[in-house]
Amino acid sequence: MDDFWQARWYVVRPAGNRKPATYRCPLCGGLLPALRGHMLVLPEGDAPRRRHAHTSCVMKARRDGRLPLREEIEPPRPGLLARLLRRG
Ligand SMILES: [Zn+2]
Repeated sequence: MDDFWQARWYVVRPAGNRKPATYRCPLCGGLLPALRGHMLVLPEGDAPRRRHAHTSCVMKARRDGRLPLREEIEPPRPGLLARLLRRG
Protein backbone atom coordinates (compact mmCIF):
# COMPACT_ATOMS: atom_id res chain seq x y z
CA MET A 1 0.00 0.00 0.00
CA ASP A 2 1.30 3.42 -0.90
CA ASP A 3 0.90 6.67 0.98
CA PHE A 4 -2.60 7.20 -0.29
CA TRP A 5 -3.98 6.65 3.19
CA GLN A 6 -1.38 8.84 4.87
CA ALA A 7 -3.65 11.84 4.76
CA ARG A 8 -5.97 13.47 7.24
CA TRP A 9 -8.50 14.55 4.63
CA TYR A 10 -9.28 14.23 0.96
CA VAL A 11 -10.65 16.21 -1.92
CA VAL A 12 -13.06 14.22 -4.06
CA ARG A 13 -14.23 15.36 -7.46
CA PRO A 14 -15.49 13.86 -10.69
CA ALA A 15 -12.74 12.97 -13.13
CA GLY A 16 -13.03 15.27 -16.11
CA ASN A 17 -10.06 14.73 -18.37
CA ARG A 18 -10.56 11.19 -19.61
CA LYS A 19 -7.59 9.65 -21.29
CA PRO A 20 -7.67 6.14 -22.76
CA ALA A 21 -5.71 4.73 -19.87
CA THR A 22 -6.33 2.16 -17.20
CA TYR A 23 -5.79 3.01 -13.56
CA ARG A 24 -5.85 0.97 -10.41
CA CYS A 25 -8.45 2.02 -7.90
CA PRO A 26 -6.78 2.65 -4.52
CA LEU A 27 -9.98 1.70 -2.70
CA CYS A 28 -10.63 -1.77 -4.06
CA GLY A 29 -7.38 -2.48 -5.91
CA GLY A 30 -9.31 -3.24 -9.07
CA LEU A 31 -8.65 -1.95 -12.54
CA LEU A 32 -10.38 1.19 -13.67
CA PRO A 33 -10.77 2.05 -17.36
CA ALA A 34 -10.47 5.82 -17.43
CA LEU A 35 -13.08 6.20 -20.12
CA ARG A 36 -15.69 5.03 -17.66
CA GLY A 37 -17.04 7.76 -15.41
CA HIS A 38 -15.11 7.82 -12.16
CA MET A 39 -13.75 10.04 -9.40
CA LEU A 40 -10.48 11.72 -8.55
CA VAL A 41 -9.35 11.53 -4.94
CA LEU A 42 -6.66 13.97 -3.78
CA PRO A 43 -5.01 13.24 -0.42
CA GLU A 44 -5.01 16.57 1.40
CA GLY A 45 -5.73 18.24 -1.92
CA ASP A 46 -2.29 17.25 -3.22
CA ALA A 47 -2.72 17.02 -7.00
CA PRO A 48 0.46 14.99 -7.70
CA ARG A 49 -0.85 12.31 -5.32
CA ARG A 50 -4.30 12.18 -6.86
CA ARG A 51 -5.72 8.78 -7.61
CA HIS A 52 -8.48 7.62 -9.90
CA ALA A 53 -11.15 5.63 -8.11
CA HIS A 54 -14.43 3.94 -8.95
CA THR A 55 -17.38 6.17 -8.14
CA SER A 56 -19.05 3.32 -6.26
CA CYS A 57 -15.87 2.75 -4.20
CA VAL A 58 -15.71 6.43 -3.30
CA MET A 59 -19.35 6.42 -2.26
CA LYS A 60 -18.81 3.36 -0.09
CA ALA A 61 -15.63 4.77 1.48
CA ARG A 62 -17.47 8.01 2.23
CA ARG A 63 -20.27 6.06 3.92
CA ASP A 64 -17.68 4.10 5.93
CA GLY A 65 -15.94 7.30 7.00
CA ARG A 66 -12.68 6.37 5.27
CA LEU A 67 -12.55 9.45 3.08
CA PRO A 68 -13.07 12.44 5.36
CA LEU A 69 -13.35 15.76 3.61
CA ARG A 70 -11.39 18.79 4.71
CA GLU A 71 -14.36 20.59 6.19
CA GLU A 72 -15.11 17.53 8.32
CA ILE A 73 -11.58 17.48 9.77
CA GLU A 74 -10.84 21.17 9.91
CA PRO A 75 -14.00 23.14 10.50
CA PRO A 76 -13.55 26.59 9.02
CA ARG A 77 -12.54 29.15 11.57
CA PRO A 78 -14.75 32.13 12.12
CA GLY A 79 -13.83 34.70 9.54
CA LEU A 80 -12.14 38.00 10.27
CA LEU A 81 -15.40 39.85 9.99
CA ALA A 82 -17.08 37.56 12.52
CA ARG A 83 -14.20 38.10 14.98
CA LEU A 84 -14.37 41.85 14.55
CA LEU A 85 -18.11 41.89 15.05
CA ARG A 86 -17.86 39.74 18.13
CA ARG A 87 -15.21 42.00 19.61
CA GLY A 88 -17.27 45.08 18.90
ZN1 LIG B 1 -12.66 0.57 -6.81
